[in-house]
Amino acid sequence: SPTIGVLALQGGVAEHQRMLGHLGAETVLVRKPEQLDAIDALVLPGGESSTIDRLTRIFGLRDPLIDAIRGGLPALGTCAGLILLSSHIDDPAPGQQSLSVLDVGVSRNAFGSQVASAEVTLTWLGTASPSVRAAFIRAPVVTSHGPEVEPLAEHEDRVVAVRQGNVLGISFHPELTGDTTVHRELLEMAST
Ligand code: GLN
Repeated sequence: SPTIGVLALQGGVAEHQRMLGHLGAETVLVRKPEQLDAIDALVLPGGESSTIDRLTRIFGLRDPLIDAIRGGLPALGTCAGLILLSSHIDDPAPGQQSLSVLDVGVSRNAFGSQVASAEVTLTWLGTASPSVRAAFIRAPVVTSHGPEVEPLAEHEDRVVAVRQGNVLGISFHPELTGDTTVHRELLEMAST
């Protein structure tokens, strides 16, 4: 079975680990650069993107993450993870950087506050399933994207899931609804 790393600096790590385990994958909590060499794919979870960004630099993971993902490591970023993967943050926290491995611009907290968060069924244009049950929590949206980026889902006429080669980025939290579509999509990417 594939070994999937979950970036374990801050945020919803355990939920991803549980879902990947449920799908039969081995999981590794990634906190050190050398762990990136021993995984078949990586999940960057939701949480607080400016905190995770800061921790990637403190843990010496920023450049190794960029190298690994540019080198073809399949990667899934959810919510804050999408913000981290992006090439432009419209409304960054002071000093906040992103990894620039996914050619999208994002806006943070675009769907309003935690209170306004919603659970909905979206059409999924990937291969794993025709639809996905999605939870939005202070979710970002994709505000712009390059020609190599393929939109995979929309919510309220805004792009909330994309794929560019080995990189998958989604605004929402499938690990909270129990829907396995996006994780199965990542496992397919890890096995090809
Ligand atoms: N709004 C958060 C951020 O900017 C992301 C929220 C989430 O990951 N659920 O990091």
